[in-house]
Amino acid sequence: MKPMGNIPADYASRDGELLIGGRTVSDLVAKAGDTPLFVYDRAIMAARVARLRAALPAEVAIHYAMKANPHPQVVAAFAGMVGGIDVASAGEMQIALASGMAADHISFAGPGKRDRELEAAITAGVTINLESFAEGWRAIAVAATLGIRPKLAVRVNPDFEIRGSGMRMGGGAKPFGVDEADAAALCRDMIAAGADWRGFHIFAGSQALDAAAIIEAQAATVALAAKLADQVGAAPPLVNLGGGLGIPYFPGEQVLDVEAIGAALADVLGQRADVLSTSAFAIELGRWLVGEAGVYLTRIVDRKVSHGEVFLVTDGGLHHQLAASGNFGTVVRRNYPVAVATRFGAEAEETTSVVGCLCTPLDRLADKVALPRADVGDVIAVFMAGAYGASASPQAFLGHPPALEMLV
Ligand SMILES: *Cc1c(COP(=O)(O)O)cnc(C)c1O
Repeated sequence: MKPMGNIPADYASRDGELLIGGRTVSDLVAKAGDTPLFVYDRAIMAARVARLRAALPAEVAIHYAMKANPHPQVVAAFAGMVGGIDVASAGEMQIALASGMAADHISFAGPGKRDRELEAAITAGVTINLESFAEGWRAIAVAATLGIRPKLAVRVNPDFEIRGSGMRMGGGAKPFGVDEADAAALCRDMIAAGADWRGFHIFAGSQALDAAAIIEAQAATVALAAKLADQVGAAPPLVNLGGGLGIPYFPGEQVLDVEAIGAALADVLGQRADVLSTSAFAIELGRWLVGEAGVYLTRIVDRKVSHGEVFLVTDGGLHHQLAASGNFGTVVRRNYPVAVATRFGAEAEETTSVVGCLCTPLDRLADKVALPRADVGDVIAVFMAGAYGASASPQAFLGHPPALEMLV
């Protein structure tokens, strides 16, 4: 038997069935009409925003980084709860604009923005977080053609990163942002070219579970913003401090102490350099806000035994939930929390492996975990499925239909 991660404490059962948003899994599957199905729980999303809002100093806005979950209803739900949305493509930008979030509070980061994407952002009044000098000059040229003053911020590739970050996105040679040493020069160039300079975007890592490491990185980020502002010779209207708050997917991982992070950030901002005294601040989070709010539901189609090992073969798989199969950004495969949703809370009776319906050995949703006895027709729940699930999995692989998605 192998361990699995902990099921988030938000989930309960009724009549032996998992409840999501107060409704049983059978009810949700009947409403959706089929499995596999992602269900996103609005109340859990709201609870995460409320907890973080209470923890952070009032002057720090919460932005939703929508690449974690771009489902239009999820984005619209967040638009009513947070201060901004960060997008990473023109396609995401259209969803963010349709969500009701004002263009003024939408920013667009990401390498390789095409001219037509820059044009769409400038036309809409969205802030572009520049990833290079060349992109900056292309934005200036596009804006001149349009006759619109572009809103431009500079994404900085800091020399540091969050220690123990799950995904390395800052520190050293990176395709993201402009090296710390060059960032002020790009800001000055853009200001001189007539842009509406919006400030800095400094992103130092993702999926960190060590509060002390995040606190250290945030302090370094504020110090870097002050140093760069001095070099630019102007106060940044906004300093986007990045994000990086992680969630515990795997056995032994703990929920992050966001209250400690918020208290430390309040101290750092309380003592910030004068050049930042009028600046606004934001942090941008994807998975921390939505990851635990999503559950992937998949039905057992076959139950079989091979060399003494029980396999539950489901109608889902890595084409919807790549991360749970261990093939998205992890080095060693470990088990996400899973459960038999139609026997939720029942005692574990056997060791089973839950696999998907794809003809590849990679398609394993749970490896040798202890579960209650489950049969054909039972529904398996894979937790921690709200972020980097449906949109970050190879849905076309093997020609099965895409997963259904539902916000409750
Ligand atoms: C992916 C990304 C995020 C969101 O990361 P999470 O780990 O989901 O919080 C935030 N900002 C930028 C720039 C990103 O690329």
